[in-house]
Amino acid sequence: MNWYYVEAGQQAGPVDDAQLAELERSGRIQADTLVWREGMAEWQPYHYAGPGAAAPVAAAVTPSATATEGVCAECNGVFSLQDMIRHGNIYVCAKCKPILMQKLAEGARLNTGALNYAGFWTRFAAVFLDGLILWVVNTAINLAAGLGAFQTSTSASAGFSPILLVVFFFEIAIALSYETVMIGKYGATLGKMACKIKVVTADGGRVSYLRALGRYFSKFLSGILCAIGYIIAAFDDEKRALHDRICNTRVILK
Ligand SMILES: [Zn+2]
Repeated sequence: MNWYYVEAGQQAGPVDDAQLAELERSGRIQADTLVWREGMAEWQPYHYAGPGAAAPVAAAVTPSATATEGVCAECNGVFSLQDMIRHGNIYVCAKCKPILMQKLAEGARLNTGALNYAGFWTRFAAVFLDGLILWVVNTAINLAAGLGAFQTSTSASAGFSPILLVVFFFEIAIALSYETVMIGKYGATLGKMACKIKVVTADGGRVSYLRALGRYFSKFLSGILCAIGYIIAAFDDEKRALHDRICNTRVILK
């Protein structure tokens, strides 16, 4: 049994029956200390509601036994029950009422708490779409550079063309910028937007540009060894790929 009690005007606990008895022996809980446990409609003085007392429900029907003070579930302050707003089992003070209302409005989200992680195939589709976009861009660059390469190929007799190296780094720079800017600014690349998923931090927050950049490089690690770093996302309880583990990011459904 989990008990809560009021100490120095603040809610304390939970404590179990044994700890509660110990608190009583040490004098930290007295006959008039307000206590509460699951199932009680309201906070009651210890001598009415404590384990040694008669059933709290019976005590509650006696007008004199009803506590006049309660503990605000938000700020843990002790207030007169007259000045508090009751919602189910909990009370909040007038000052905290807007907070409770806000929480109730967001109720559905608070109750689940967990992020809605995107599955492996949704993520695969997004990566595929981004690959397609970058392939189109890279092909255009290659065609443009191809004309230039043709002009210099007579001088590059060894078969090595410096322009290929330039094109290679140029294409890397484009892929890097695309991913970093899109995820840093929008939380998603075009492929991810199309698949209605986005990258967030572990607590659901926005991913910074720096983290997005780190994530881009971490993908190289995910890509080696037959893309095992990507595949593990299918078996992770939070659907994390290796680069998500490294950068502490998650991919969620929007
Ligand atoms: Zn309050």
